[in-house]
Amino acid sequence: MTMIAPGRTIGILGGGQLGRMLAGAANQLGFDVHIFCPEADSPASRAARKTWQADYLDTAALTEFAASCDVVTLEFENIPVLATETIQACGVPLHPGPTALAVSQDRAEEKAFLNGIGIATAPHEVIHAAADIPAALERVGGTGVLKTRRDGYDGKGQAWVRSPDEAEAAWSAIGEAPAVLEAAIGFECEISVIVARSSTGETLSWAPPRNVHEAGILSRSIVPSGLDKSVESEAREKAMKLVRALDYVGVLALEFFVLSDGTLLANEFAPRVHNSGHWTPEACQTGQFEQHVRAICGWPLGDTRRLHDAEMRNLIGDDGLVDPASLKPDETLTLYGKRDARPGRKMGHITRRIAPRKD
Ligand code: ATP
Ligand code: MG
Repeated sequence: MTMIAPGRTIGILGGGQLGRMLAGAANQLGFDVHIFCPEADSPASRAARKTWQADYLDTAALTEFAASCDVVTLEFENIPVLATETIQACGVPLHPGPTALAVSQDRAEEKAFLNGIGIATAPHEVIHAAADIPAALERVGGTGVLKTRRDGYDGKGQAWVRSPDEAEAAWSAIGEAPAVLEAAIGFECEISVIVARSSTGETLSWAPPRNVHEAGILSRSIVPSGLDKSVESEAREKAMKLVRALDYVGVLALEFFVLSDGTLLANEFAPRVHNSGHWTPEACQTGQFEQHVRAICGWPLGDTRRLHDAEMRNLIGDDGLVDPASLKPDETLTLYGKRDARPGRKMGHITRRIAPRKD
């Protein structure tokens, strides 16, 4: 692949905060950005040169958008695969491609893919109807999490099942959709690996953050994780194996449960920049957004070396109405420009540089 030069146009499918931050990094490197999303006044479109506001299945709009771009990427993994195929049919490079997207959109396919390349996940069963749940629950050990196969995020589309009596209620809570039942994992902590692979096959990852969730939503990401370096290395190796197996180009995040003996169970991956990597621009030589732009444009990857210990905290709902005067000198504020602070909505984040890296 030839390098895409500054001055060219990067297209992004999706209008959320990840697209907004990708646009910022692309602008810094001299690119123009075009956004395609169904929403009006989206966070990403307000940071871009041009927006196509249309449905992801509007072939005419997608074709016109693709024709205006030199490379297209995405910031949201639930884009219909058909939309990405339409972009590819226009002859415009698209990273990541439809395969990684299709695998990550279906929790059953995703786990099968991970297991198929030797990456362990939580024991799980595929669920087609409420009647499948009691036997599956027994096979996963008596307590589990029922998750819709498709369209879940921020803990939505999930219900805990603690006994066979709860099967019907859990099935209706997730909207009676095809699902997987996962064993409940008594993890010690959660980490994620943010990894980048370029079109030349160069692969680099960042130090894995420890991730703390509240009410199913990521609340904080902390580096260093405090885990043994051997556990971190194994997680990074697994993420690198995944991007190679997917023949992936761009940044990807792989989430893990870490058991008390250091065993790693992969939870899920996202074929995009990730909330748990939001500390990288402030704490590392190269941040995830810049790296994604480099990777999809065929540039050499930047150094992922971590320079600081850091903590990123999400500003959710009213936390987003932050008083700039309250910020400490070591804190960096990022706001997503969302017009209203609804409960549970990610409004921004603050990264605190704790100290220069010591290890
Ligand atoms: P996100 O968009 O935040 O990644 P999601 O909706 O895709 O979330 P998951 O990542 O599957 O959902 O789950 C969210 C969180 O719920 C996990 O990070 C973990 O804290 C908890 N969780 C999920 N599955 C399990 C499990 N099998 N056992 C224990 N806890 C779990
Ligand atoms: Mg998750």
